[in-house]
Amino acid sequence: MKMQVITMKPRIFLIVFIFLLLSCGPQTPDTAVTPTLSPSPSPITAGEANTPAAPTAPSPTANSDNKTPTLDVVAGARSIGDPYAPELGNTGYDVQHYTIQLALDPQEKYYLAGSVLIKATAVLDDLGALSLDFIGFEIEELLVNGQPADFSREAGKLIITLPQPLASEEQFQITIMYHGETVQEPSPYVGFASWLGVFYAREDTIYILSEPDGSRYWFPNNDHPRDKATFRFEVTVPEGLTAVANGELIEQQGHTFIWEHNAPMASYLATVVVGDYERLEDQSPVGIPLRHYTFTEDQARFTRHVAVTGEAIDWMSDLFGAYPYDQYGYVTVHAPGVSLETQTMVLLSSEMVNEQTIIHEMAHMWFGDWVSLDSWGEMWRNEGFATYIAFLWEFRDDPEGLELQMEGIRAFLEDSGDLGKPLRNPPHVELFSAYTYVGGALMIHELRQEMGDDAFFAGLKAYFARYSGGTATDEAFIAVMEEAAEKPLAAFFEGWLE
Ligand SMILES: [Zn+2]
Repeated sequence: MKMQVITMKPRIFLIVFIFLLLSCGPQTPDTAVTPTLSPSPSPITAGEANTPAAPTAPSPTANSDNKTPTLDVVAGARSIGDPYAPELGNTGYDVQHYTIQLALDPQEKYYLAGSVLIKATAVLDDLGALSLDFIGFEIEELLVNGQPADFSREAGKLIITLPQPLASEEQFQITIMYHGETVQEPSPYVGFASWLGVFYAREDTIYILSEPDGSRYWFPNNDHPRDKATFRFEVTVPEGLTAVANGELIEQQGHTFIWEHNAPMASYLATVVVGDYERLEDQSPVGIPLRHYTFTEDQARFTRHVAVTGEAIDWMSDLFGAYPYDQYGYVTVHAPGVSLETQTMVLLSSEMVNEQTIIHEMAHMWFGDWVSLDSWGEMWRNEGFATYIAFLWEFRDDPEGLELQMEGIRAFLEDSGDLGKPLRNPPHVELFSAYTYVGGALMIHELRQEMGDDAFFAGLKAYFARYSGGTATDEAFIAVMEEAAEKPLAAFFEGWLE
């Protein structure tokens, strides 16, 4: 995620993060919205989606010793065990694949009709119930392995009683059909947005912004990066509009756009965007396919700024390991002052079509998307790296300029009184504070100086090779960097994180 930044130069590197309220403001849904979009998605039948082999991911129970006193991590319980965000996820099962069908119309403000097919595996033995994160909507039908199942709703959770208890490693499918108005409520983690989830911007566009806990506002899911899955989207929109999502556009049937993303993805990185878009295609010098979506009126400016994409993605592939996905690109959205690293298809605010944001979000394809956070309290590892890599790119031929930039940041953080505050587990409202971004970047710069360039970049490559497609803890990151440095770094990290 990136907020709009003003950088004042020269020498006074004052960085002001403007936490613009998303322009829609604190709206309330229009009343009595009548769905007119037809047909609504037909139910997904078992076996319809083509599920690729399940990715190997770290065990979702790997950190269950960090459980909070209030939420037990047991079968059917309502937490995946992230001590920073214990209300999210569930550790009883592991999702391999979501097929999401949506009917969306920008004219039908806040109405959404959807259906989701979840293919999952029981992780715990004798699993009799489970929870999905899901808020709002009326549930028309809920099937487990094709059989109707009882369910209840409470505190952001959809709690499903399984018709038969499942044994550990048993595969199962859940189909849920739902419709209704989207809920807009603030996230405790995001001070600058009125809400997360579905946004109806202007009269003709829809976009979805879910970091960190907003995907439950548009589809039922296990809402934590510890449970990644592959995705298929089938999105029906009015004539003349285009639906954009993660991965590859594999087919268009009438007004239904079908996208598939066959790499593991955290729920918060899934997105669907609807608008009157132009599709632009390109490829990087080494051949990574690029596809972008832009509004016609923005096309000249957009094309000028994204021209750097191919060169930059090859540069990052050299630094961190090959680009992990089959394609990459940006979709411009009317999201005031906020852009998001939605996997393979970055949400780029039309106010932030600039090189710094383009590079920042691209860096997240490695830092956050390919290797994700094990706990949301480790946000510095996402935003610190994305911020630092944008500086590395900007000053790639000017090492002295980079030093001046980092000195300026250190002075800024000293003046603001932030320097010395623990970067890990900030208060929830400060999860996306300027300190997480530039403080994280400064820490990473000093880590690089501490390790030396060869060890630093070798360590990053080793980190991506080891945790590819999964999640990693801060401790795992530190261990990899210590191996590369061939010396202990515990004291260095403790000084910054604790
Ligand atoms: Zn970011």
